[in-house]
Amino acid sequence: MIENSSRTSVNQMSNAKIHKCQCEDCRKGADRSLMEMHRRMKLFLSRLDEQQRRWYVALESEKIGHSGDRLLSQITGMHVETIRRGRRELESSLEGRPADRVRVEGGGRPVVEKKTER
Ligand SMILES: [Zn+2]
Repeated sequence: MIENSSRTSVNQMSNAKIHKCQCEDCRKGADRSLMEMHRRMKLFLSRLDEQQRRWYVALESEKIGHSGDRLLSQITGMHVETIRRGRRELESSLEGRPADRVRVEGGGRPVVEKKTER
């Protein structure tokens, strides 16, 4: 029997196989909660479409600040340039978007609604 497990193409978006985080800390395996966090991040990313992933990762990278792009690239397997691009896109799209017209399909109602008075 020959097992067909090619390491090279793990790029498919299968939900079952979220491949391991490549950041330094996870490779050391020292911090369990960090590893779990990165695993969840990758799990979450696997359910987003391409641009959503880019933006989410860009946001996470901004939280980290300096060297964020590189770290997020290690965690997500996303190219550093892609993350950079995501940051730029976020900047420009936020500027061009009126704040009062954020209507997302399938999104919940605004929380401000207060109908239930007794
Ligand atoms: Zn990690």
